[in-house]
Amino acid sequence: MLAASSAWAQQISHFEATQVRYSDDPLPGQASFRYRLGTRPVLISAPHGARHWREDHWKMQDGYTAALAHVLAEHTGAHALYTVRRIRPDPNYDDDCDYKRTLAKLLRDHSIRLVLDLHGARFDRAFGVALGTIEGHSCPDFEAGIIQAFVAQGFELDAPDFLDRLALNMPDYRGGVRQRTVTRFVWEQCRINAIQIELNAHLRVVSNHAPTSFTFSPDPVRQRRAVEAMVSIIAAVAVGQ
Ligand SMILES: [Zn+2]
Repeated sequence: MLAASSAWAQQISHFEATQVRYSDDPLPGQASFRYRLGTRPVLISAPHGARHWREDHWKMQDGYTAALAHVLAEHTGAHALYTVRRIRPDPNYDDDCDYKRTLAKLLRDHSIRLVLDLHGARFDRAFGVALGTIEGHSCPDFEAGIIQAFVAQGFELDAPDFLDRLALNMPDYRGGVRQRTVTRFVWEQCRINAIQIELNAHLRVVSNHAPTSFTFSPDPVRQRRAVEAMVSIIAAVAVGQ
């Protein structure tokens, strides 16, 4: 079982505030990313935890995904890999990068069976959670169970409130049909199941210590439901070990 909801949110908020620097280069001799070893055959990836260089400019971070990956791993025993400083090139766009080389080694060394690649969508996108499996290709063994885990937490395809909407392979959120994403890399080059999970900002931004130009209110109840879904996904994979 998870700690109380507020304790969970405090851990995520504290980690993001103290460990993640969106716009800073890594310290000399260090990478822009960190990993946390686990005991279960699932790896949580957050390549956009800080700003990332794509083509010719720095793109904004997917706020709180690094903290979410770390805290989820801490509670479940999953492995985690996430960026804590700005990173170049964007690991979700370019295959020739240390993030993916480290990821491939972790997958091999720890017999990982499933990668959850966490991302963030803007607060006004028309879904709470968007799952991308490259049109049903990248996660054949776990896709149905993952959908079921979100449905069990009240997310559904035709929910009247957009924040309860669960989208599957919607345009722009398909997990790597056009781009060399982490999901595509894991599936095509490592032959391991992978899924991209995009969380609306309402479901991932815990507190406002890093204000953006947008105004919205974090939704702790839905955040908790999304976290519970991911905890049950990780637990289900461990059982089948
Ligand atoms: Zn992203």
